Amino acid sequence: MKASREKITQPDKIDLPQMLDFYPLQDEKDTRISQFFKNLKTGQLTTTKCKTCGSVLWPPRVVCSGCMSEELEWVNLGTEGELYAFTEMKAGAPLGFEKDVPFCIGLVKIGSLLISSRIDEARYEDLKIGQRVHLKVVELEDDGRVFYRFKV
Ligand SMILES: [Zn+2]
Repeated sequence: MKASREKITQPDKIDLPQMLDFYPLQDEKDTRISQFFKNLKTGQLTTTKCKTCGSVLWPPRVVCSGCMSEELEWVNLGTEGELYAFTEMKAGAPLGFEKDVPFCIGLVKIGSLLISSRIDEARYEDLKIGQRVHLKVVELEDDGRVFYRFKV
């Protein structure tokens, strides 16, 4: 199944220190995992796997957290996962996301990984542990940065 795609808008413009910008900088000059975002732009959720010890790492890393090897390769995680746990954000959303409440967040199990993510297009009452969820790539209209979410 192909990942769905949606344009989103940056939350209200507030001059914040860069560290409070929810969406990470994604260019090669800003991060050593820019390949993750390049892959995400093409609809692929990927991460790094250690060539030395075989650990699949999440979030993607430049050094293996298990054996400290820098010999890593990119692996595709596919576009489907299983809802492992979820909750609903009703109040206290991160700065700039107050208007989105209520929204669902959860842990999505893909292989051995648990990936925290927003769960879009679902009401809390309708979600069930173990249900299939699908990758959704969101793109900021302002500057084209992308991020992942899942949807029912
Ligand atoms: Zn390793």
